[in-house]
Amino acid sequence: MKIMFIVTLSIVIAKQNVRTRCLREGIRRTKRREFAMKCKACQEWYKKYPLKKIDKEMVHEIEKEFHYSPIRCAFENGVFSKENWNCQTMSKLREVCDYSARDDMSAGSMGAMPIDESEKEGIQQGFIIMTWYKDRGATGAAYVMEDESEPELLNLKTAEFMMKREI
Ligand SMILES: [Zn+2]
Repeated sequence: MKIMFIVTLSIVIAKQNVRTRCLREGIRRTKRREFAMKCKACQEWYKKYPLKKIDKEMVHEIEKEFHYSPIRCAFENGVFSKENWNCQTMSKLREVCDYSARDDMSAGSMGAMPIDESEKEGIQQGFIIMTWYKDRGATGAAYVMEDESEPELLNLKTAEFMMKREI
C-alpha cells in the first residue's frame, strides 16, 4: 500500500515536472521567436522607441507630438517579405544602393547594387534588386539575381552584410 502510494506520487511529480518544463520551454521559445522576428536595426529601433499607446493607438514616440506608426521588419522569417513597413535594414539598403530609378506615374522606384564577395556562410551572390513606391515605408520586392540561376528572395544575412557598405 505504502509502495503504491509512493509510486503514484512519483508519477504525479514526474508529470508535473514535465509540464513545468514544457511551459518554461514554451515561454523561452516565444521570447526567442520575438527576438528572431526582427533585423538588428529594427530591434534597436524598438529598444530606442518602444511602442506606446497614445490616443488609443500604438505608436513609436520619437518626440512629443512626433509619432511614428509601428514599423514592421521585412525579415520576420529570415528572408524578405513584402509585409513590411519602414524596416530599418531595408531603408538603409535603399539609401546605399548604386543605381536607382524613380517613376511615380508608372513603375515606381527601384534600386540595385552588386553584393560584395564574401566567404561567410549564408551570404547570397549576385545583385540585390528592390522596388518601392515614392518614399513610402513599404518595400514591395527585394530579390537577389545573378546570371546563372533563378531570382531568390533577399535573405537577412545578405541584407545586414550589405547595409554596412561604404558609399
Ligand atoms: Zn527590419
